[in-house]
Amino acid sequence: MFTVENHRLQTEQLFRGLDQDHQGSVDKQTILYRLQRAGIDHTHQLFTELFDQLTQLPEHARIDCALFAQLTEHHLKPLAKCLQGELIIPDFHSFCREIETIYHHTAQLQSGHIANYIPELAKADPTKFAVSLCTVDGQQFSIGDTNSGFCVQSICKPFIYNTALEQLGETKVHQHIGREPSGQAFNELTLNKKGLPHNPMINAGAIMAASLISADKGNADRLADMIGLWQRASGNLSGIGFSNATHVSELDPADRNYALGYFMRENQAFPPNTNLTQTLEFYFQCCSIELTTQALACSAATLANAGICPLTGQCVFAADTVKNCLSLMYSCGMYDFSGEWAFTIGLPAKSGVSGAIMVVIPDLLGLTIWSPPLDTLGNSVKGIHFCQQLLQTYAFHNYDSVLKYGDKRDPRRQQHGWQFNITLTLLDAASRGDLDEVLRLAAIGVDLSSADYDGRTALHLAAAEGHLPLVCYLIKQIDDIAPLDRWGNTPLDDAQRGRHSSIITLLSGSD
Ligand code: GLU
Repeated sequence: MFTVENHRLQTEQLFRGLDQDHQGSVDKQTILYRLQRAGIDHTHQLFTELFDQLTQLPEHARIDCALFAQLTEHHLKPLAKCLQGELIIPDFHSFCREIETIYHHTAQLQSGHIANYIPELAKADPTKFAVSLCTVDGQQFSIGDTNSGFCVQSICKPFIYNTALEQLGETKVHQHIGREPSGQAFNELTLNKKGLPHNPMINAGAIMAASLISADKGNADRLADMIGLWQRASGNLSGIGFSNATHVSELDPADRNYALGYFMRENQAFPPNTNLTQTLEFYFQCCSIELTTQALACSAATLANAGICPLTGQCVFAADTVKNCLSLMYSCGMYDFSGEWAFTIGLPAKSGVSGAIMVVIPDLLGLTIWSPPLDTLGNSVKGIHFCQQLLQTYAFHNYDSVLKYGDKRDPRRQQHGWQFNITLTLLDAASRGDLDEVLRLAAIGVDLSSADYDGRTALHLAAAEGHLPLVCYLIKQIDDIAPLDRWGNTPLDDAQRGRHSSIITLLSGSD
């Protein structure tokens, strides 16, 4: 009974939030617009039915509270989260405008060369440029050539590694593959001191991981499983395919990958009875899987969301698989730029020679940038530039959290939690009259006029407790010396209540 009543109240509250002109009904476009601004579309499974129902209504249909209740009956919670700014990026609209700005800025770059050692890749259009992102709540945004497909190439490596981990477990997999950056090119003819590939993010390691997967199956089935995995990770977004042309083209200049295979076989790195030709063939197939930036961003978001696809809620990878994968993407995912990337960008990522970069911001979002021209290390020129710009603006580096008071922005909902804690620290210092602590907080940029939920400020507390030196300091620092708390009281009221005459004099401005 309580739940039903609660549901009704929440529905009415949501409806009132939409019906801002108090007309008793809202246009269906109002609801669609609000969802769109939050980054939610029909591909999000929790909203698909709602979108279908709304689409069936006539173009200018008005929705009253009863109809709204009917439409939202099964979607109230996610809809409330979305309309009340409780998604992981509450102001998604503003965040996307920033992404657009960075995109247009990056689009002006002209440098780089398309990879041509695989003939099919050499045909890529150098002007193509697309960026997509998907948050762990399934908010999506794309800009640029987002309908063009491209091959994952090396970005298949995290997925091959994850599959091997899930089938064989960490111990067995790492009996065949190391976990150190190689410090050399992705296809360098080199193994570690144990005669194993350095890590699963370079060719040798991915070939080894491919040999471990479903060894009992033929390549047709292994490829079908891999495509199925990408489909699940990307929330069944359309656009996952396979480029036969690329696959055939990969076989041509494959000497280096064959050489790596034979080198590993010579070192007895493979499990017994490994069919090397079949293994290499499967690895090339995985590189030739095709998708769009939107699908890749959602797959990255699945990694950001501990293996659960944000669009479908389906568990695609176990959380410990994702943790292992992200750790190696962080240290080894960007070719011979990995150390510099970890230092400056500080995020797990994987790059591919088709010009795509898949970036994971754990617990926040997955991001994909695709632009074919590459720098000398094999990374997309625009991709790297875009990320550098993004990281200049936002506190997304893994260790930006230690710079709590830096000037980078953070669009995450939790930001308010940090702000709230800092306000409490300030108010606590004020109530104790701890001028030193208040000076320290001011020095690191804390807003001395910030208030708690009750509208209480440092000045209210210092005045109430009679801390004259602190009051003297605060009134010189802040503009408004008569802020109202939720009961309508100013700091002067507090000082009068405590009979602190010097402070009363100061705050009333009289002698
Ligand atoms: N298929 C490519 C190769 O094995 C993948 C290279 C890459 O994207 O790093 O050479």
